[in-house]
Formats: sequence, structure tokens, C-alpha cells
Amino acid sequence: MIWPTFTSKHLMASIDLHSHSTVSDGSLTPTQLIRFAASKGIRVLALTDHDAVDGLPEARAAAREAGIEVVAGVEISATWKDRTIHIVGLRVDPEHPTLVEGLAAQRSGRVGRAERMAESLAKAGIPGGLEGAYEYATEQVIGRTHFARFLVNRGHAKDMRSVFKKFLVQGKPGYVPHQWTSVENAVAWIRASGGIAVLAHPGRYDLKTGNLNALLDLFVAAGGTAIEVVSGSHTPEMNGRFAYLAKERGLLASRGSDYHGPEQGAYLDLERLPQLPADCVPVWHDWGLAV
Ligand code: AMP
Ligand code: MN
Ligand code: MN
Ligand code: MN
Repeated sequence: MIWPTFTSKHLMASIDLHSHSTVSDGSLTPTQLIRFAASKGIRVLALTDHDAVDGLPEARAAAREAGIEVVAGVEISATWKDRTIHIVGLRVDPEHPTLVEGLAAQRSGRVGRAERMAESLAKAGIPGGLEGAYEYATEQVIGRTHFARFLVNRGHAKDMRSVFKKFLVQGKPGYVPHQWTSVENAVAWIRASGGIAVLAHPGRYDLKTGNLNALLDLFVAAGGTAIEVVSGSHTPEMNGRFAYLAKERGLLASRGSDYHGPEQGAYLDLERLPQLPADCVPVWHDWGLAV
């Protein structure tokens, strides 16, 4: 199969539609994140914290000062066939009650999950995980990244990459199964608030073709209209594969770094994000942006 090439009229697009702040598991505050993005030449940035929209007012104020634009976003965790799938919402109304209530329920689910994670770690001989993780969580969203920082800082793993391998993935102490909302609900909350639902980093779910098609069928039937073709957590091959798939299925294409902050390794560089191929329809095609 011949993948599309990555030269296009969008070649210079300085838009990044997936990023995290301290409101969830990023390590920069919304203000720091916006300033950093502006310094990297980003003109439009979506703030997409996990299960929370609380960083948006601060991000908007910082963006006005920095002369860039913020897209109101969110990244919702969903469960589908015992897997965790992330749905990004773009241009959401952060005050819409359906979205607000849905996200609040997700966050309270995270609290119980964190307690179970701490119990699991305690059984493996690492006490104090709950308090430890909360030291790294500045707002209401508690998650694996906060446990990861606690474990690295206590010397249980050498860095963020190895701590996940050793502790925070299926089959390891510290991992607990969790029931998030459904993909249908995540899409519905986003749509109710006027937003666009985007299947986040599809390359990360390790889905065989049959399952990927089934997930896309369900996502589209629920009202999802876009997929993240280019992601900071994709390989170049994945970017190509999902560009092809987006065209095949008539889905809009998104592009996001999934930036979490300077010390969170690997795939997190606003500058190194490839552009969308020319034959993809960018999710921002009708937003009236000059990017
Ligand atoms: P949670 O939503 O609490 O399950 O946490 C998921 C977050 O953990 C992701 O959004 C990433 O920020 C982080 N994460 C997951 N897997 C890894 C990994 N292998 N290495 C580094 N960070 C990871
Ligand atoms: Mn994260
Ligand atoms: Mn994600
Ligand atoms: Mn993300």
C-alpha cells in the first residue's frame, strides 16, 4: 500500500489540538503551557485536559496576552471492550451542564480508582501511594501519571517510561481495572456541548483491523466526526495509516502533540509534529483560522 505524502498547503499549519496542563496530568500550568506554545510558534492550541475543562479560563487569559488562540477542549476516557479509548472534544462549551456533569462523574470515578491503585501498591510493599500521588495532582484530576511521579521520586523506577512498564499497566502492581464511561456517552457529552468528537491517538490502542473498524463504526454512529491522524504518540507509519483511514471513512483529520510538559519524555515536542497530508480534510477546515 502507498501511504499519502506529507507535503501540503497545510505545510506551515501552526496548530496543535491536543495538550495537557496541571489541571490534569501535564506539568505546566495553563499559563505556562500557553506561553511555551507561543514561544514555539504555535498559533492555535487546544487545551484538552483529561476529564476536565477547568484550565480553560486561565488558558484563554494567557492566550490573549501571548497573542495566540485557545481551542476549548477536553480528553475523555472511555471503556470499550475492556480497553480504554480516549475521545478528544474540540470547541466544546465548558459550561454545558451535560458535559460538566459527565466530567464530574468521571473525576469522582478517578478518586475510587486511585484508592484501589494505592491499595494494590501497598500490597506490593509500597505504602503511602495515595497521599504520594496527590502531592503531584494540583487539581481534582487524579491519574496514573501522578502515581508515576510519586514512584519515580521515591526511587521505585528510574524514569516515567519505565515506571509505567513496571507498575502502571495491566498485570503490574499499581494497575487496577476501571470502568470509564462508554464511547457513546463521551461523544454525546461533547456533542451536547456543541463540540466535535475526535478519536484520540488511534495508533495507541493496538487494535487489529476488525476491532478498529468496529470501534470506528460505533464512534461514527454515536456522532464522532474526526480522528487524530497526526499524534505525538504515533510513529510516522501510524500517521500515514490513519491519514489513509480518515480519507477512506470520510472523517476529518486532527493533529495534536499530546504535550504533557518538558520532563515527560518521548513524544512530546510541539515542533516535531508532522503536518497533515494534503488530501486529508483538517478538522479546522471551516473554523476560519489563518494557520
Ligand atoms: P489515566 O488517565 O489516569 O489512566 O492516565 C493516562 C495517562 O498516563 C496518559 O494520558 C499519559 O499521560 C500517561 N501514560 C500512559 N501510558 C504511559 C507510558 N507508557 N509512558 C508515559 N506516560 C504514560
Ligand atoms: Mn495524560
Ligand atoms: Mn490520551
Ligand atoms: Mn492526551
